[in-house]
This record gives sequence, C-alpha cells and structure tokens, in this order.
Amino acid sequence: MDKHLQYLFSPIKIGDLEVKNRIVMSALHLGYATKEGLVTDRLKDFYVERAKGGAGLIVLGMAYVDWVGAGGAGATNVIGIDDDKFIPGLREMVEVVHGHGAKFAAQLYHAGRYSLSAITGLQAVSASSVPSRLNPDRPRELSTAEVVETVEKYAEAARRAKEAGFDIVEIGGSAGYLINQFLSPVTNRRKDRYGGSFQNRLRFLIEIIEGTREKVGNDFPLIFRTCGSDFMEGGLTLDDYIMVAREVEKGGVHAIGVTGGWHEAPIPEITMHVPRGGYVYLAQGIKEAVSIPVIAANRINEPLLAEEILQQRKADLIGMGRALLADPELPNKAKEGRFEDIRTCIACNQGCLDNLFTRRPIQCLVNARAGRERECEIRPAKAARRIAVIGGGPAGLEAARVASLRGHQVTVYEKGDSLGGQLSLASVAPGKGEIEGVVSYLRAQIMKSDVDVKLGTEATLDIIQEGKFDAVIVATGAVPVVPNIPGVDRQNVVLAQDVLRDRVEVGDKLIIIGGGSVGCDIALFLAHQRAITDDNAFFLIKYGVDCEATLSLLRKAGANITIVERLPRIGRDIGATTRWIVTGQLEKYGIEVLTDSEVTEITEAGIVIVKDTARSHLRADSIVLAAGYRSDQSLLEPLSECQGGPEVYTIGDCVEPRKALEAIHEGFEIGQRI
Ligand code: SF4
Repeated sequence: MDKHLQYLFSPIKIGDLEVKNRIVMSALHLGYATKEGLVTDRLKDFYVERAKGGAGLIVLGMAYVDWVGAGGAGATNVIGIDDDKFIPGLREMVEVVHGHGAKFAAQLYHAGRYSLSAITGLQAVSASSVPSRLNPDRPRELSTAEVVETVEKYAEAARRAKEAGFDIVEIGGSAGYLINQFLSPVTNRRKDRYGGSFQNRLRFLIEIIEGTREKVGNDFPLIFRTCGSDFMEGGLTLDDYIMVAREVEKGGVHAIGVTGGWHEAPIPEITMHVPRGGYVYLAQGIKEAVSIPVIAANRINEPLLAEEILQQRKADLIGMGRALLADPELPNKAKEGRFEDIRTCIACNQGCLDNLFTRRPIQCLVNARAGRERECEIRPAKAARRIAVIGGGPAGLEAARVASLRGHQVTVYEKGDSLGGQLSLASVAPGKGEIEGVVSYLRAQIMKSDVDVKLGTEATLDIIQEGKFDAVIVATGAVPVVPNIPGVDRQNVVLAQDVLRDRVEVGDKLIIIGGGSVGCDIALFLAHQRAITDDNAFFLIKYGVDCEATLSLLRKAGANITIVERLPRIGRDIGATTRWIVTGQLEKYGIEVLTDSEVTEITEAGIVIVKDTARSHLRADSIVLAAGYRSDQSLLEPLSECQGGPEVYTIGDCVEPRKALEAIHEGFEIGQRI
C-alpha cells in the first residue's frame, strides 16, 4: 500500500458496520434504471465496476420513496424503492456488489418541489407552495396527513432497502430536496406542527429517522446526507446545520455526509470553478459538533487531497461521486501508488450532470466506458496491426491509448511540439485549469505504452505510405474560422487562440467577435489578466475591506472588453450546469455583451455592427476573432486517392467540431474497434 495514504485506507465503523477504507462513492443519479424504476444490467455493471475498483462504501444513486418526488431536476429513469416489487432487482444488485468486497448503501430520495410534472405526471409537492426557479410549475403544499404519510413512505423504503440486503440506509437531505424544503424557512411557511420554529421545521426529518429506525432496528446503520449550508438568501447556514447535525445524532443516525448548497443556489457547487475541496470546511464544522463519522464531499477528486483532509481531521470519510464515475479504479490505483494512472474527474459536467439536466443517462467525458462497462471492455485484438494516428489531441491520444492496450503497433504524428491539442489551449482560461488533468492522464498513458510519438511531424502521404500502415486514424481536429468580413485581414485583428497562446499582444480597448465558449473564455482570460490578483483579493478580504469595494475592482477589469454575438444569446455551446456561472462571471468583470449584432465591417478604429437594422461604429484598439472552428480535413483527400492504401478512419473535430466528450469517446470507440 502507498505509504502516503494510511488514513484513506484504514477501516472505519459506521454504527457496528466496518467499512474497509474511507472512500465512499457518493450517490449519483445515473439514469440507468428502467422508466419504471427497475434495476437493469447496466446499473448492476456500473456498481460492480466501482466495487471491484476498491471503494469501501458505495451509495446507490437516488432511490425515490414516492413517485411524486421522482422527477427531481429533470431526472428520468430513477431507481424505485416505493414498492415491494423493486426488492428482487435491488437484491440481485446488492449481491453482486457484495461479491467484490464493498459495502452498499441505498439513498432514499424525494425531490419535493424540484420534481417535474412533465416526468411524473403529478404536481410537485413541498413543505409549502413556494416555487423554485428550477421548476416552471408551482408545488402544492402537503397536508398534515400527507406529511405523516410521506414519513411512512421513507420508513417503508428503508425497510425494503434492508430486505434487499443493503448494509446502510442513507436519508437524502441535501441539494434542496424535500427534507431541506421542510428545514428551511425560505420554503417552509407552514402553520401546523411541521412549520414555524426550528424544532417544528426539523420535525419531518426527525420523524423520518424515528420511522426508519422502527422499521430497520436501532442497530441498522443510517447515514444522513445534508448540505452544510443552503447558500440561499434567507436559508440555513452552517450554524443552523450544526444544530441539525446534533439533533440527528441524538436521533440515532450513525454518520453524516456533508455537501455544498442547494441546486438552485447562486454559488457554484459542482463545476471546475469550485476549488478542490472547497466545501470541506462545512464537513469540518459539523464534525467539530458531533461524535459520529462525517463524510466530506464536493470536488474531492484525488487521493492525496482526500488523505490530507482525513489527516487534518476535517472529516472521517471522503465522498467521491464523479471521481469514481471518471475512474472506478481510483481506490486500487491510489493504494498501489499508481497516481499517474488515475483518470481524474475535471468537474466539466459535460457527460454527467449536463446529461442529467437534459434527461439523458449520464456519461463521462474522460471515461468512455462509464455506463457501458460490459460492452466496452478493452480486449486484445485478434491480430496486431500497424496503425498511424494523425493528431495528438484528445481524440487521437485516446484512440492511440486504447489501440495500443489491445496490442496494436501505434505511431502518433503531431505537427505541434506537444500533445493535448485544443484541450491544452482550453485549460489556459481562468477557472479551467482542471482540463489539463485529462491531457496529463492521456500523455502519461501514451508515454508508458509502446506508442511511438513523433512530435513536430506533419503527417504527409509519403510518410504514411513509407510507414506501411494497415490503418490510419485521422484526428487532425479543427482550425479557427476566419469570418468573411471586410477588413478581417487588418493589423488590428487577432485570433483568440493566438491570444491564449500568448503569441500576440492586444490593445486596451477590445472587441471580441463571437460569444460562444471560446469568445467567453477569451473575454474572461483578458479581464482576469487586468484584474486584481487572487492574493490581492484575499488580502483585502482578510483585512476587512468591504466586499463591494473589491467587486468594483473586478468590474473595472472588464470595462474595456465587449463581446459581439450575432445570435440572441451567448455561451450557447456551454452546458447548462456551467453556462450561468460563465455569464455571471462576465457580468462580475463588467464585460459588455452585445447580442443580435452582426459585424459588417472591421475598420482601422473598430467595427461596424448592425443591430435591429441600426448601424453603428464601435471603437476598439484590437479585434479578437472567436468565431468558432471548422474541421481540418486537409489530409483526407490525398489519403482517399491512395490506391490499395491503408484503411482510413476519421474521429473527433476532424469529422465536425464538437466537444471534448465526443472526441474522447470516438477515440475510444475506434481504438476498440480497429
Ligand atoms: Fe467528471 Fe466531467 Fe466525467 Fe462528469 S463528465 S465525471 S464532471 S470528468
């Protein structure tokens, strides 16, 4: 075992149940159950893979206790536990997971006012009839008798979990779901015994715990998963949750899991903008107030950070949800000290939560096998072949990695002087440094494999023919679009990509043409360079300088930057979980955004735009082009003319410019198929 991870790999007891290590796979909604909520082979395979990977405890992602609360935040294909008919399927899954040494908990869930009638066919219910910005429909207030029935539904669900063989029941009370809606005065305006005072608002939760204990017995381990703060105006803070934690401990809960705020909170919780371990302080606050184990979660994506949190006694266990979606083998790799082999979750949400919010089963950007564990097992090729991969971006590297693992002889040609392609460039933007983790992983895997990497080598037809390859995978990516605008070749025009690469200088007053993700990134990148540093901001906060004064300094940083977009909205290619953060940052920096504006000319002194038929001239020292990408297919024609030549495959942006997820998944698929 790696000597640096002695805390992470020490056993711990939750109640009387021993868990072999401190790694908990937090509950994630996967969307792999049937429409009716039944367990599928896909779901079983997913959890078996995580159990094999070495997690001490796995928490089944969201099992609804009542159908009316099943469609939370747009979730479909949620696991059902509101009827005995679900027990046999759950039992089968528990048995196979147990076969690989992990303990298995079932999380009981009710989304309350987050549940969408478009999914359940029922009006959402809540503590009170207070609408959420995440749901177009106003919820109905549960009657007192219905509250009592809902408590019973949790308790019955816990009984079913025990009967199915789960080791633990986790009562889901985080993210703004029904239990939070009862706890918070923002959403609980009831006049009966479940509303008003803190004790009354707490009653629903305490009765759920009591009802559960009656059904499963006092010794059956219970976890309560909670937010450490709502991050909602007028909502509960850490001090309030400390009181909640003390009460649930008294109520007989055996461990508490702590996350960040509600889904609708205006503070980022799940994107790469949140610093690693950014919400551990909430778990620590609760740990200091109770004597039962506390699980820290949110953005803890690597084992050394997890170890540090445990060593500093800020928490007793570490919740890793997306980290184990990205790499189910993280625990085993960490234990063996194989840190460079860990495929780190980069908190992009491209495959997981953005899919969830668009009602699709979750995937993972960095792990093409997630949710397809059985069908995507990497097996040796029937015969080793000579394969050329042209392009060292994410698609090419993943194709090379997988093809090489299968025994093929692979050569990668990259015309630049480093591997990583567009991903390396994207990681330069502020708050996107995590992206570099994908590149480092792929680079490390390629370097330790037999893949021959030819950097600084532009693949030509001659090179391919001389190499006598059986197959060529063209992963040449995409190149920036230069829009056909009069004046686009002037000296004052630069490409966003050249600014990010630090190849060109720009003037003080800037106009960015294009408000897609690259346009937003470059605007933030330039504003960040002009803003006070993070250290400076910290210094000001530390010495009590008013927050508004610090924010006004930030606003000045983007004052001379304007994004011009011809569509009605910017950031259209950014996922729902991240777009609001990016647009919020543009606002914080004071960056001007002009939508529905067509650039008709670039002049020596700026640009001419037409908005709503009105023509105007905007002054600028530099014009930055961020008008998107077009596929680089320059090698395809010569390759197609090569008579009797190798098989040719195209993947990634070379087919059509898209996101990194498609690039990596196509790389995986061709590597597996070829
Ligand atoms: Fe992490 Fe992105 Fe994969 Fe989600 S899709 S698990 S955020 S790497």
